[in-house]
Amino acid sequence: MIPRVKGTQDFLDLTVFNFVIDEIKKHLTTYHFSEIKTPILESVDLFKRSLGLYTQVVSKEMFLIHPPTPFALGSAEGGKKEAICLRPEATAPTVRAFIENNIQLLPWKVFSYGPMFRYERPQKGRYRQFHQINIEVIGSDSIAQDVQFIKMLDRFFHETLKMNNYALLINFLGCFDDRKAYELLLKDFLEGPKGQHICVQCHDRKERNIMRVFDCKNPQCQEIYRQAPTIVDQLCADCAAEWQQLQDLLRLLSISHAHRPTLVRGLDYYHKTVFEFVSPQLGAQDAFCGGGRYNQLVGQLGGKEDQSSIGAAIGIERLLLLLEPFKDQLPLPQPPALHVILPLSTGQHTLALLLADTLQAQDICIDVLFEGSIKSMMRKTNKMGAAFALIIGQSEQDTKTVMVKNMVTGEEKRVAQTEVADYLKG
Ligand code: AMP
Repeated sequence: MIPRVKGTQDFLDLTVFNFVIDEIKKHLTTYHFSEIKTPILESVDLFKRSLGLYTQVVSKEMFLIHPPTPFALGSAEGGKKEAICLRPEATAPTVRAFIENNIQLLPWKVFSYGPMFRYERPQKGRYRQFHQINIEVIGSDSIAQDVQFIKMLDRFFHETLKMNNYALLINFLGCFDDRKAYELLLKDFLEGPKGQHICVQCHDRKERNIMRVFDCKNPQCQEIYRQAPTIVDQLCADCAAEWQQLQDLLRLLSISHAHRPTLVRGLDYYHKTVFEFVSPQLGAQDAFCGGGRYNQLVGQLGGKEDQSSIGAAIGIERLLLLLEPFKDQLPLPQPPALHVILPLSTGQHTLALLLADTLQAQDICIDVLFEGSIKSMMRKTNKMGAAFALIIGQSEQDTKTVMVKNMVTGEEKRVAQTEVADYLKG
């Protein structure tokens, strides 16, 4: 057997997965978002430019696609090789689509969902192919927008999915200048006496992408970072006012949250508001949704002018892990009642086909068992959870009837073939 690729999963029952997708679609429609779909294949440069060269995702986790051979490319492309990859996230592709399709009506409120790919070390809740629901508002600068956005997510988790065991962590990274000034301050701190005890990886991060040190899981490093200066204490006057406004509005809308000064999120493009929804039930990979404001990404990716924007990604696999213990309490769609036709010999196969076709055309859920003895077919029908077995032998064929067996009560009734549909519909 050739096993599945490491870090990927087979989904054999999509009931809860599809429920989440259906519900988020309804929910986001209420907030006036529309659905889009962008390709899974994107140019490597898109992520180098947006996420930053020194982020973990770009430097270590990209699934690069080997360019096809010049022969396969054909003469039309003149052998030009474009470096492409499987998308690791969906914000940069959404921004690319915004620019490329010359969207004029702002804010552009869109969402998409689908698989993402990162070459990470697989563990519980961390896969190499995973799914995200991605939500973006491009072209809105207001802090009130951030609050509405966070409320929308919180309401989805709490009210639609009935989740309780989670927390919302927020931080405020200030504007570009604040972030730059803070990075210098943090560097000073880490080059002082306390910084001597950080781990080797953090030393490396300090040089390449200093805010990422906060993502280190090493307890000794974490203890040191608790004593580090915090960015919210270094904000310019405008950002300080916005940070205050953000907290006030979150409180006004009764959104419980905690300030986490070390929450910076892994990617380079965030400014101002950043947030994560976390749950202790998830263990080490505790975030099931993360996002924030990115005000310079549109310009960075070639847009005519910058557009202040905010976005978030919900990790579907982690959401499914959280929903698993109480999924029976969710209003999941019920599959329709199943009825199984049992032709007793090959002589009744044609009749079984015709009967199935007539019933299926009336939206009655029908399966037909073409193989096995009556005993084994009945056993299978039972295991399939059928409501009725529709038995057709020679005598039923001759009399244009069907023997209908109620699989719960065991009661049997001979019904005219022309009346089976009405009988099943009750
Ligand atoms: P990010 O794009 O890194 O901000 O992640 C947003 C959300 O996607 C996280 O909160 C996780 O729920 C989910 N996620 C990110 N990476 C993975 C992964 N490797 N496996 C499963 N879920 C992931």
